[in-house]
Amino acid sequence: MNQFLSRRTFILIPTMSILKTFFKPMQVLASSLASKEEWNLSKEEWKSRLSPESYYILREEGTERAFSSKLNNEKRKGVFHCAGCDLPLFLSDKKFDSGTGWPSFWDSIQGSVATKVDFKLIVPRTEYHCSRCGGHQGHVFNDGPLPTGKRYCNNGLALRFVPE
Ligand SMILES: [Zn+2]
Repeated sequence: MNQFLSRRTFILIPTMSILKTFFKPMQVLASSLASKEEWNLSKEEWKSRLSPESYYILREEGTERAFSSKLNNEKRKGVFHCAGCDLPLFLSDKKFDSGTGWPSFWDSIQGSVATKVDFKLIVPRTEYHCSRCGGHQGHVFNDGPLPTGKRYCNNGLALRFVPE
């Protein structure tokens, strides 16, 4: 290792620990807490209820690959439920084609989702989750269509579609 590199490493390590301390209070939980006591399940209970893919999204705030969900092209009338606890979250008439590769909605069913700010990509984003079981659904942005101007960018694996 040359002198320059070791010097840089020397500076980098304390800087990173300072940053870590700074971001710690804002760091998000692995998932949000359930609002209803009966949905405060253990990791093992969630793992037994969900597919590994859905567990990763709902309970570890993962993100599925763009254009991987068949719900992207779901155009039937119906209701999108939380894949964790089956709470109805979105109505099909609020769904729109955002072109992003994730099922997108311009509004949620009132009271069905709750939000928090996350810093996973350093830039703050508004995470939202099922208000009942706390399962992570996606992120909401302010570039959606009228009348709300919102874009709920949802993981398909976190939803269960119930056609009308
Ligand atoms: Zn739920």
